[in-house]
Amino acid sequence: MLTSKMIKDAALAAGADACGIAPMSRFDGAPDEMNPQFLFPEAKSCIGFVFRIPRGVQRGIEEGTQFYQYPSMAYGGINEIFAPAVLYQVGKLIEDEGYEAFVYRNTGARGVVSDMDGSPGNTLSPEEQIEINENAKTSTAHHRSVQFTRPAREGGVAPDLQFQFRLAAVACGLGEIGWSKMLLTPEFGPLQRVAFLFTDAELEYDEMYNGKPLCRKCGACVRECPGGCIPALNSGKTVTVNLDGKICEWADIDMWRCYAFYTHAGRHYNPFVPKEVWDANEDGALNLMEGITDVADEQEIMKVYTALQKYFPSWVGYNMAKCGGCIRGCVSVLEKKGGCMEGRFESPLRTKKAWKLER
Ligand code: SF4
Ligand code: SF4
Repeated sequence: MLTSKMIKDAALAAGADACGIAPMSRFDGAPDEMNPQFLFPEAKSCIGFVFRIPRGVQRGIEEGTQFYQYPSMAYGGINEIFAPAVLYQVGKLIEDEGYEAFVYRNTGARGVVSDMDGSPGNTLSPEEQIEINENAKTSTAHHRSVQFTRPAREGGVAPDLQFQFRLAAVACGLGEIGWSKMLLTPEFGPLQRVAFLFTDAELEYDEMYNGKPLCRKCGACVRECPGGCIPALNSGKTVTVNLDGKICEWADIDMWRCYAFYTHAGRHYNPFVPKEVWDANEDGALNLMEGITDVADEQEIMKVYTALQKYFPSWVGYNMAKCGGCIRGCVSVLEKKGGCMEGRFESPLRTKKAWKLER
């Protein structure tokens, strides 16, 4: 008989770092277009997998010496290679026992509503961005949902249904959402990515995390964001979700703004873009990055990308992150006394004053 223990043992043996299982009923009440209950209506269980991001992937950015490893390993590597391999192995175990394994790797930005601002329609997946960047002359590379999708059955929802991964991880008992909107787990703080598997097998379920709060409400993520994208703790700008009785609350982050700063970091935190480019701010393309406008929308982000992406001309199928300030600030705090990462490493992530280009 298939058991949760068999699944978790297989997941860890295949390379996952943690695994939790939720009944599908935990998603009752989720908005239809983001409700995984629609994916496979006969599914009874949602299995969540955590894949740790090695802290050392952030070392190059922390030192200001190497920026390629974070997007390529922590995004590309985990999403495209490590997580699918585990889903494949665990899926085989489940199907050998006579149940179906609907694997759901991290696809990013494929839903009918934008994962940036919840608006419907007209966006592209990260993979499609490459094609657009290389071949299209008129289309934006930064659409964030699917354009012409329609429900395939009456009463269904349009493909590709994309659910909220971080909340699903919370449902599986794997952690909590921090003020920064990152998933925090007791084992790895903010350093992980996740993937899921839905099955019609009924299993033993994990409780949602109910230990000491993982987010310390310290505000390091707010302070260390180069774009000011994360509202202050006392701003009152929050998003609150009731997940089967567990209240999840996080800062109402300006996601379009983060899209720009996460990839291009700004004058003081992007060593690849010459000072003269920031100074010239040709055609006002960098108004958002320079604080001349507060409007952060798709049009402004396109201007920023068009102006700056040639200064780091690499593609791993993902935006080439230069930032991660919120992650590193969070790790630094959670490693301190009383944080969930206390004692994990011999030395802390941050051993010297954080760098900033004065220019
Ligand atoms: S990734 Fe960077 S820009 Fe985005 S919220 Fe975090 S610190 Fe801010
Ligand atoms: S940096 Fe502090 S406030 Fe922000 S998510 Fe981490 S623990 Fe929470």
